[in-house]
Amino acid sequence: STAISVRNLRKVYPGQPPVVALADASLEIQDNEFFTLLGPSGCGKTTLLRLIAGFEHPTSGALDMFGEDLLDLPPYKRPVNTVFQSYALFPHLTVAQNIGFGLEMLGRPKAEIKATVEEMMELVKMTEMADRQTGQISGGQQQRVALARALAPKPKVLLLDEPLSALDFKLRKEMQLELKRLQTETGITFIFVTHDQEEALTMSDRIAVMSAGSIRQIGRPRDIYDHPAERFVADFIGDTNFLPAELVSTEEQTGTVRLASGQMTTARIHEGSDVSGQVTLAIRPEHASLVREADGVLAGTLGNVVYFGTDTHYHVGLDDGTAFVIRTQNSPDTAAQFESGARVGVTFGADVAQVLRD
Ligand code: ADP
Ligand code: MG
Repeated sequence: STAISVRNLRKVYPGQPPVVALADASLEIQDNEFFTLLGPSGCGKTTLLRLIAGFEHPTSGALDMFGEDLLDLPPYKRPVNTVFQSYALFPHLTVAQNIGFGLEMLGRPKAEIKATVEEMMELVKMTEMADRQTGQISGGQQQRVALARALAPKPKVLLLDEPLSALDFKLRKEMQLELKRLQTETGITFIFVTHDQEEALTMSDRIAVMSAGSIRQIGRPRDIYDHPAERFVADFIGDTNFLPAELVSTEEQTGTVRLASGQMTTARIHEGSDVSGQVTLAIRPEHASLVREADGVLAGTLGNVVYFGTDTHYHVGLDDGTAFVIRTQNSPDTAAQFESGARVGVTFGADVAQVLRD
């Protein structure tokens, strides 16, 4: 069922000039979903979370949760809770006291609080630290306590605003898996905010990619990575080569394009996208291959060859002046076939190139 329905939600902050933080955003989040809002800083992610939590009121639009109009409800009556980037724990209180704090405020019975705190400590694996003051535990442990505290009142929806960005790389990777596990185990709908595309791809059931207050594309990680609907999405998520091309004909979701070299090739067209004439082809570096000049659909000169351990990046300067990167996976028996400075060809399959608006 639908957990949250956002319809034409708009938020304008007053000022000279006014700031359109959210421009008529619409989306539906399903019950039990790990849903991520992904976009660069300032695109309106926090604003959308604050509107759902009730800390802000929209300029216009509608917001329902489980079929109930949320806009009539004050924040404390909404079945949501928020985990902030700054965990906002009480450093002099213990782990258990911090986790139980919200329940105390809600006036829940003592026995219920005790049982829930124990359950939550178990869930985030902090039982052994129950009596430690949170000022004296590590950043990763504080993050677990903040999560347990937010989950303790059993909200139907948990909002997480860049909760991992204060952690170092290794811990962040660990907490990504941990968060995913918590979501699966509790069955609570998570709305997770991040500006980190890799984090979004690894954790989410679905992602909404945002830019400048609007939602550009919604889909499963694979759909978004393999079928970006527009240049912004292709550029923001992963690395992409962009080639100028001319769309000559289309048949359903397949287009025939003429490349700068004059060569023809076929490419995919995103469902519902309106493209014609001059277009841009988007090709992932791992979806193209380096071949002999005569065998390529494009030709150029090999520039830098950069070894990364797991893979190698080949930088090709195409004859029309476009830069193109090819990424190949290394294995112990792959030897470099081409040397920097060599004439080379670039080729790619018909199903990997995506036609985007110029
Ligand atoms: P994000 O979380 O994606 O970084 P925000 O939702 O915080 O983005 O902000 C979106 C836009 O709204 C930004 O341009 C930001 O400066 C502006 N903004 C956010 N909060 C306020 C506010 N209280 N008053 C005025 N402008 C704001
Ligand atoms: Mg933010």
